[in-house]
Amino acid sequence: STFDQMGLREELLRGIYGYGFEKPSAIQQRAIKPIVKGRDVIAQAQSGTGKTATFSIAILQSIDIELRDTQILCLSPTRELAGQIQKVVLAVGDYMNVQCHACIGGTALGEDLRKLDYGVHVVSGTPGRVYDMIRRRVLRTRCIKMLVLDEADEMLNKGFKEQIYDVYRYLPPATQVVLISATLPHEILEMTSKFMTDPIRILV
Ligand code: AMP
Repeated sequence: STFDQMGLREELLRGIYGYGFEKPSAIQQRAIKPIVKGRDVIAQAQSGTGKTATFSIAILQSIDIELRDTQILCLSPTRELAGQIQKVVLAVGDYMNVQCHACIGGTALGEDLRKLDYGVHVVSGTPGRVYDMIRRRVLRTRCIKMLVLDEADEMLNKGFKEQIYDVYRYLPPATQVVLISATLPHEILEMTSKFMTDPIRILV
């Protein structure tokens, strides 16, 4: 199949091709549509499969550009990865006027305050900093409709389990959850059963 057959917005397709992608990878062929439809998705995938673009494309298809509130929250294990996700969302969303902020530790709080106050559609961050911003009511969760947990097993290895649960408790009850993990140990499955409803499982 092709990106053209996915029913994506015209300006998003332009961004995908403009970024240099021609054909969807295996995970993109299988996961983008269900995520866009609103399904909870567990994708067992390593980096190198095109996982970042998978949820970035689905995110860009799902946001309401007119609504300047955080609609998508993406958590990842490292500042570097959170920054990479922000870059891909902004690059693929180049024709969409999307606002995406990287909410990561080690940066000045003032920058988070300023960006989040200005209004961003997507927040890509690490669990500790994101939870801090939510607790301070700087990151408002009322309009969040999708939570992406990237490299979920790595987040647990780094000791972020409590913070992920803390963040989750602030999200609207119907929030769609997309989880990407190279491995699916017990603690991940426990998380999926607590956060997700009738998830689709995709192994690539
Ligand atoms: P990831 O799995 O997110 O770490 O992505 C691995 C690499 O694959 C990145 O350099 C992406 O830019 C690239 N990539 C992702 N999707 C595609 C695609 N459909 N066609 C070509 N390259 C891709």
